[in-house]
Amino acid sequence: MTNMKKKTDDEWKKELTSEQFRVLRLKGTEKPFMGKYWNHEKEGAYKCTGCGTVLFESDTKFDAGCGWPSFSSPIRESNIEEKTDTTHGRVRTEVLCKNCGGHLGHVFDDGPKPIGLRYCINSVSIDFEKKEE
Ligand SMILES: [Zn+2]
Repeated sequence: MTNMKKKTDDEWKKELTSEQFRVLRLKGTEKPFMGKYWNHEKEGAYKCTGCGTVLFESDTKFDAGCGWPSFSSPIRESNIEEKTDTTHGRVRTEVLCKNCGGHLGHVFDDGPKPIGLRYCINSVSIDFEKKEE
């Protein structure tokens, strides 16, 4: 497997749409209630738009009312990376794809019990794949 983290911005620009590039590579945020998955309820998995790594499953998706797709946990802890983000004058935890380093969103500690986490993810960073029948 090629090292996705070494890809240059120019290489990413060729593969991603401008909105995908803005969110995944420049750590942008899509507008709430505008993305394609915030109210998406089909069964399946959500993969990284940048590299195709499976990140979240529909089982853990819940409606947080925030306008972004929210999950209580990733499919595998090892598929994501968490980093402290101190931009915008507050301390948050950024969530990235471990494989390609793409920005996914943030994780907050106000999710449903028992885990109590809310992975607040940009729709543009993930790509839905329907569960096989
Ligand atoms: Zn990725």
